Amino acid sequence: MSVLVYVEQAEGKFKKSVYEAVSYAKAIADQQSTNLTAISIGNVAEDELKELGKYGASKVLNVSTEQLKTFVNQAYASVIANAAEKESADVVVLSNSFSGKGLAPRIAVKLKAGLADGAVELPTTDGKFAVKKTAFSGKAFAITELTSANKVIALNPNAFGVKENATDATIENFTADVKQSDLGTVIKDIVRATDKVSLPDAELVVSAGRGLKGPENWGMIEELANLLGAATACSKPVSDADWRPHSEHVGQTGISISPNLYIAIGISGAIQHLAGVSSSKVIVVINKDPEAPFFKVADYGIVGDAFEVVPKLIEALKAHKA
Ligand code: FAD
Repeated sequence: MSVLVYVEQAEGKFKKSVYEAVSYAKAIADQQSTNLTAISIGNVAEDELKELGKYGASKVLNVSTEQLKTFVNQAYASVIANAAEKESADVVVLSNSFSGKGLAPRIAVKLKAGLADGAVELPTTDGKFAVKKTAFSGKAFAITELTSANKVIALNPNAFGVKENATDATIENFTADVKQSDLGTVIKDIVRATDKVSLPDAELVVSAGRGLKGPENWGMIEELANLLGAATACSKPVSDADWRPHSEHVGQTGISISPNLYIAIGISGAIQHLAGVSSSKVIVVINKDPEAPFFKVADYGIVGDAFEVVPKLIEALKAHKA
């Protein structure tokens, strides 16, 4: 019996959400008095793999097969399920990231496992293995009891935090059995459309809504985001009106994000918008209407005109950086 955590890499590096998933998986391993093994797929340098020990992984399986250099949902799911079987891992943990959302149910099917996706807390230790998870686009929580022998948990980013747990990780090469049928779709090349920070993975997000009046006013949003190293996002009406691309639309019908900091400018805070952003760690709202619903969920609020407040923020950041 052991716990396996899948550590997703991007261009050979692990993101903060990976260290969080490892910390969470280590806590489950401790609950069950067992070891934690990590599995990495793709080209990751040994130093980076060793880093996983800092968060509690005692062994890292490294899959560096050429065929699996880029992410292939079905094939990655097969390799992770295969590793879980070989390691006799009955709990598989991964981050509920963009790719994690596709992988988790596939791994669960392969292992005939119960699935808790969007987990926000550790499983209970009362013999029931119940996991608290988000439901209905983050509007509610569900307590899901995983009754099958195998269990898959996809952890929401920012739900648990990164916890150091000095362990010396050993690295082992893992030879994966990749079936041709798992390689039905193969990514040949990834071409970056932009050098901007990618929204689903961003730790800082500057987002704006209809209060900005028109696409011509996004210059200051871009400038603020650049100064902070943040990604940009928007509300649905803004992308519906083609002021911004649909890839920036967050909310119930857009993408769900959990950055460390979400700055909402000229966005009212409708429930459908909040559904995609309310699990952000810190929310800052800038709105000229003190009654805007967004202020109810904000950690910090500025009641003011975006066209006055944002340039002042930019000025202050520039002065701070000088
Ligand atoms: P508005 O509601 O028009 O709000 C603009 C805000 O800007 C106001 O609060 C105003 O006080 C403020 N403002 C105006 N001028 C200024 C200024 N100069 N300075 C500062 N503040 C200013 N919406 C989403 O965002 N994402 C979704 O995924 C989504 N899915 C939906 C799904 C369904 C089924 C439905 C019915 C709706 C959905 N919506 C979604 C739409 C949602 O209900 C709201 O209509 C939308 O979020 C409002 O966008 P907004 O806040 O940009 O615009």
